[in-house]
Amino acid sequence: MTDIKAIDKEYVANTYARFPVQLVSGKGSVVLDENGKEYIDMGSGIGVTAFGIADEEWKAAVIGQLNKLQHMSNLYYTEPCAKLAQMLCEKTGMKKVFFCNSGGEANECAIKAARKYAAEKKGADYFTIVTLWNSFHGRTLTTLAATGQEHYHELFQPLTPGFVHAPANDIEAVKAAALENKAAAVMIECIQGEGGVIALDKDFVKGVAEFCAAEDILLIVDEVQTGNGRTGKLYAYMNYGVQPDLVSTAKGIGGGLPLGACLFGEKTQSVLGFGDHGSTFGGNPVSCAGALSILGRIDDKLLAQVKEKGDYVFSALQGAEGVESVSGMGLMIGVKTVKPAGDVVKACLEQGVLCLTAKDKVRLLPALNIPMETLQKAVEVIKAACK
Ligand SMILES: *Cc1c(COP(=O)(O)O)cnc(C)c1O
Repeated sequence: MTDIKAIDKEYVANTYARFPVQLVSGKGSVVLDENGKEYIDMGSGIGVTAFGIADEEWKAAVIGQLNKLQHMSNLYYTEPCAKLAQMLCEKTGMKKVFFCNSGGEANECAIKAARKYAAEKKGADYFTIVTLWNSFHGRTLTTLAATGQEHYHELFQPLTPGFVHAPANDIEAVKAAALENKAAAVMIECIQGEGGVIALDKDFVKGVAEFCAAEDILLIVDEVQTGNGRTGKLYAYMNYGVQPDLVSTAKGIGGGLPLGACLFGEKTQSVLGFGDHGSTFGGNPVSCAGALSILGRIDDKLLAQVKEKGDYVFSALQGAEGVESVSGMGLMIGVKTVKPAGDVVKACLEQGVLCLTAKDKVRLLPALNIPMETLQKAVEVIKAACK
């Protein structure tokens, strides 16, 4: 038998610490490894396979489009791209959409738009973006600069200038950082994902939105991980009663194909013009056809189920032996365990449950449509692993 793990170790760049498992196929929230062992997928490819593996409706949409046209460049109109932009705007009240391929790229677009908006409105020295400590916004040199975690920065200097970081949930610190640095925008994740699944305080997010509106500083909400139904609302900002000027999203929107989007609000809809931005693969018809099938099914009924399933996981794990606390919202859940999170995840893997970590927490991002019985089985395994 070909040793795929050995080939991977020899030829794929060493950027990922992989688990010693080769996954070959799956259905819904169950995946199979090379030996036919079954795992319940509580990570969904880091919040990507929103409706699980090989979802029939998503597959039909993708294959249907594949049989027609797989790519045509942005020099021409295609139906999936236009219809997906329309659906995103109708469901959010945002006005326009730029499509790209990843979360980092969606954030790059939001940052460029914010800089141009501020430069035109206030002057070229209004370019700074305020982000929060412990945030995560991507791996490109600019989104790395936006990411408020110094250990990601150290070996890649100089990063893109023009980013300052303020402590989360400290409105006065954000205001001071924004005013002292002539900020173009404040950028937040409503729930810090990679940072440990930490939801920002409601009053803080509201305060940031009010301050930004009053000062004509743009509010960028990074919904790459929190978006597309993950928290029990279509976008996490909808839990907070605020209206962002720019929203970036990716991960779950494509259901497993690469797709990112930057949504522009009332103020920002006209800021980018011809030639200001682009992406060869952006708005790819196959990715967009799949996304139409995903987004079209994230309705009130599904969102209520996400909330209900999230509540179940919270109540099952909160107070369980070996569990210190549970954080997050909907099906974006962080579990602070007494044992090191990595040990718990390893034990779960051995028992046939795939989990993620985020900082010192076990992170759970199951498919939005994970069946209740499957979820219950996974939770029992996780509980046992925490003991
Ligand atoms: C994953 C993530 C990103 C980066 O997305 P990529 O698709 O890996 O570029 C950005 N922001 C947040 C909040 C994320 O969770």
